[in-house]
Amino acid sequence: MFLKPKGVEVEELEGRILAADLDRTLTWGGEDRLSPALAELLRRLKREGWILALVTGREKDYIEGREDLSGLFDGWVLENGVEIFIPETGENHVLLPEKWEDLKRKASRLPYVSFKKWTFSLPKEKAEEFGRMVERWGFHVNLEENRGLIQVLPGEVDKGVGLLELLKALGVKGFVVALGDAHVDLGLFRVADFKVAVGDAEEEVKKVADYVSPFPDGEGAKDVLEKLLQGEFRLPF
Ligand SMILES: [Mg+2]
Repeated sequence: MFLKPKGVEVEELEGRILAADLDRTLTWGGEDRLSPALAELLRRLKREGWILALVTGREKDYIEGREDLSGLFDGWVLENGVEIFIPETGENHVLLPEKWEDLKRKASRLPYVSFKKWTFSLPKEKAEEFGRMVERWGFHVNLEENRGLIQVLPGEVDKGVGLLELLKALGVKGFVVALGDAHVDLGLFRVADFKVAVGDAEEEVKKVADYVSPFPDGEGAKDVLEKLLQGEFRLPF
């Protein structure tokens, strides 16, 4: 399979960046771990000079506890774009507006809300009701859907915004390959030069992807990384 991304000039390129979602992309999700084969492919990309970014809805503490991810990524984008972290230097930024705590306090009275460190989520069927409430309260939010759960983010933040913030902090620019499975990854796709969906991704994600792997989640990610290493996508480097 050969694909050529549109509108990319070789002279613009300064680096090669792989930005990958975790759950149901690199793994099956839940407490599933990265396969050793996939971890080795990530290490090979790194040895070849790729910058690796993990772009996830998970919290920093959770990712820190995941031994299978330890030492693999140059940077993490956490809680769907709200926090960035660079493991090697310990640098982290949190992208939240001033009144975010007020919103969280109001939302904490709702029985269906569950909280992460910075953000919170609610069931999809409550999204409309919550959206109306938030408008009355005078907040601007981004209600991102991730497989039936609505992730409540500040209005200006998504995975793509988080990735750009991470790249700025890392001091790298370049060609971004994004790998994802769900609606929440579309923000990441927006800032990517080459968009890849795993085989069991949501339809709307597959529709905008430049390449859809025939294999699901971790196996799909493995397929994509092998193709990247073998130059099968004909990317401009
Ligand atoms: Mg996912």
